[in-house]
Amino acid sequence: MAGDILKVIMMGPPGSGKGTQAELIKNHLGLPHISTGEIFRENIRKNTQLGQRAGKYIEKGQLVPDELTCEMLFDRIEDEDCKEGYILDGFPRTIEQAERLDKYLTERGHKIDKVLNMSIPDQEVIRRLSGRRVCSNCEEIYHIDDNPPAKEGLCNVCGSSVIQRKDDLPEIIKARLDTYYEISQPLISYYNRSGLVTIVDGTIGKTNVTRFILSLFG
Ligand code: ADP
Ligand code: ZN
Repeated sequence: MAGDILKVIMMGPPGSGKGTQAELIKNHLGLPHISTGEIFRENIRKNTQLGQRAGKYIEKGQLVPDELTCEMLFDRIEDEDCKEGYILDGFPRTIEQAERLDKYLTERGHKIDKVLNMSIPDQEVIRRLSGRRVCSNCEEIYHIDDNPPAKEGLCNVCGSSVIQRKDDLPEIIKARLDTYYEISQPLISYYNRSGLVTIVDGTIGKTNVTRFILSLFG
């Protein structure tokens, strides 16, 4: 039944912990974590046509065009593992994407159930992103001060090299934050009109954030 499918959207500025929390709650909720940023980066690594098209925007801290992003996302949520629902991380990021998603879901008798808005001050975003490192292979996330890998430069999970994302360089972080406030933050009001938004304080520590989010799902 359509009504039983749980669809959750994680929103918030870059570095607010959307991806981290989505990874932590996905097993509890039994849902796949779908990160548009991660799908793009995977395509960039494999040098696919999609990767080449998206990479031009991502490396400048700009958004990938809606058409390309929506096509990719709608394709992904057709997959078998999305039958019971999914957690969207990094999508939608523009009003256009949100409207297209609504249309897509309405046509199938579905709707969004919850929008979690991770809230965090700019200073903390900059501190987190500039110190963030990621595994070049499995995307496990580290931080040079908060959570360094056990062996310097090597992933705890898979042993591959841990690197800095190109878009985590200072000028690009600034561009991403500007884009967020200008283009993505207005989406909060969009979803607030349907009363779907819950604010999540992103500064209370990883475990507390997870506990809070899970409490919302009973
Ligand atoms: P973050 O949330 O930390 O910025 P993501 O991994 O979610 O990182 O996204 C990285 C980049 O991928 C974004 O800066 C943007 O260029 C692109 N991207 C991801 N999701 C979208 C989207 N829904 N629409 C357009 N571009 C996107
Ligand atoms: Zn790894």
